[in-house]
Amino acid sequence: MRKMMNINRYLSNEDLHDILQGFLAAYPSLIELRYIGESYEKRPIVLMVITNQDTGPDFEKPAVWIDANIHATEITGTTTAAAIAAHLLQNYQQDSEITRLLNESVFYIVPRVNPDGAALAMAEKPKYLRSGVRPYPYPDRQEGLHAEDIDGDGRILQMRFVDPSGDWKSHPQFPERMIRREPTDTQGTFFRLFSEGTVEDYDGVMIKSARAFAGLDFNRNFPFDWKPEADQLGAGPYPASEPEIKAMVDFIVSHPNINFAITYHTYSRVILRPFSTKPDSEMDTQDLWAYQKIGEIGSELTGYRCVSTFHDFLYHPKEVTTGAFDDWVFDHLGIFSFTIELWDLPTAAGIEDRKFIEWFRKHPAEDDDKIMNWLVNNGPEDSYVPWYTFDHPQLGKVELGGWNTMYTWRNPPPGALEAEVQRNIQFPIQLGKMLPTLAVTRQKLTSLAKDTYHLDLVLDNLGFLPTHTSVQGKQRQAIRPVRIELERSEGVTLLEGRYKIEVGHLKGRSHRLSVTSINANSATDHRARAEWVIKAAPGSSVVVHIYSDRAGCIHLPIKII
Ligand SMILES: [Zn+2]
Repeated sequence: MRKMMNINRYLSNEDLHDILQGFLAAYPSLIELRYIGESYEKRPIVLMVITNQDTGPDFEKPAVWIDANIHATEITGTTTAAAIAAHLLQNYQQDSEITRLLNESVFYIVPRVNPDGAALAMAEKPKYLRSGVRPYPYPDRQEGLHAEDIDGDGRILQMRFVDPSGDWKSHPQFPERMIRREPTDTQGTFFRLFSEGTVEDYDGVMIKSARAFAGLDFNRNFPFDWKPEADQLGAGPYPASEPEIKAMVDFIVSHPNINFAITYHTYSRVILRPFSTKPDSEMDTQDLWAYQKIGEIGSELTGYRCVSTFHDFLYHPKEVTTGAFDDWVFDHLGIFSFTIELWDLPTAAGIEDRKFIEWFRKHPAEDDDKIMNWLVNNGPEDSYVPWYTFDHPQLGKVELGGWNTMYTWRNPPPGALEAEVQRNIQFPIQLGKMLPTLAVTRQKLTSLAKDTYHLDLVLDNLGFLPTHTSVQGKQRQAIRPVRIELERSEGVTLLEGRYKIEVGHLKGRSHRLSVTSINANSATDHRARAEWVIKAAPGSSVVVHIYSDRAGCIHLPIKII
């Protein structure tokens, strides 16, 4: 087996382009590259369509969607998404389950939704944006401090200076480290602590924190519970206003075969699931149980906990996030979706069971020791930079140093990338195994009289998910029921029955998660039957088409003998 890519590295736009072209050259019948849109700066947004093209078109097979790097600096996701693609391609005809998956289903993978933001994050003189580069909400830079690499060393570190009213002080044993000033601290040296940067329109006195110049947050721009700027920062002027997000939205709504979606972010080592805006009690109970079961499978494979964003991942106890991708695809389309926050420095450093958001507000001092010690052995040399003086053009003498966040907090140090990626490759493949899967389990042609036949056809859903994916999808009427159609063809006359039979939805096994063997009822609600009486001459043939939005299509020629 050829090695398609080195997993232990971050991919620039050029690297990614080369890797995808390499995939295409090596596996032309298993992968197609589609350009689903253009970024604000006109970079292509590339979608990998991974399926065996010889077993039918992608849109007639059930699908798993994967995207990454919506947020500019979260480039771990891009390597992960590309590694998942490489794993699928390399294991076709090596691994029987992956062979079956690519024959019967499709993986849609966008390894980089935000090529503009990623280009800046990985530039020699980097800029760390939340999302894209479009100025928003104002066309000019606002008054206040803007993060920037002011000494041109290719890093955006932190900046401090002594101030008696400062809110930070040095750690008593490790003076390089900054710790919060206690409410009762009145004596000692105190610091103001900022990101390295310059102050727009500085009056020599006031340092405000400026609204980001490129202040969009693409993961607030989706059409679920979208809110304007005053209520949800960075959500954009209207839902899907940004070309990167519109490209995703357009593709997903025009591909009803998608049942699962994963969006890769960093960091926290957590699998987040909807809703972000409301409690689990407001989700359909069957869906909740299915979500929990699928999440457990993800947890076992990745070692990440699976939690509801609303219950366990709010940035502020009284504020919810709106316009997020996972909420949109689940709420509107009934797609089981997960936001996977890859990598977590505290967890890697051995801090167990940390509360994701509260930890930043409050944690024992030993946790900081663990992190610093871990970085000494595993981090880049400049993970935490000793403070050095710098002549700031506006602020005079300051010190630069402290956290170099890009390859410590936001993304794993390069040496820890491969392991983080590897532990995430299996979950999407397991999702593939749970897709709804149609099979014709009986086709019986009985001669009734000369040139007259009874055709009896049984269709089963062999998958875990139903053909409506979730109760939510059914309630939203996002998914058309399954249809069985007899093709109108010359020489074949329908005597009894209808050409188009709508059989409704076929269940899988996901609705039986609460059932024990004591009260089991394995009713055949996964099955449908269609019957016709036809007039046809021996030697001719009829064709039956089975259409399902989510479970794919079957085209079945039946020879009259
Ligand atoms: Zn993110």
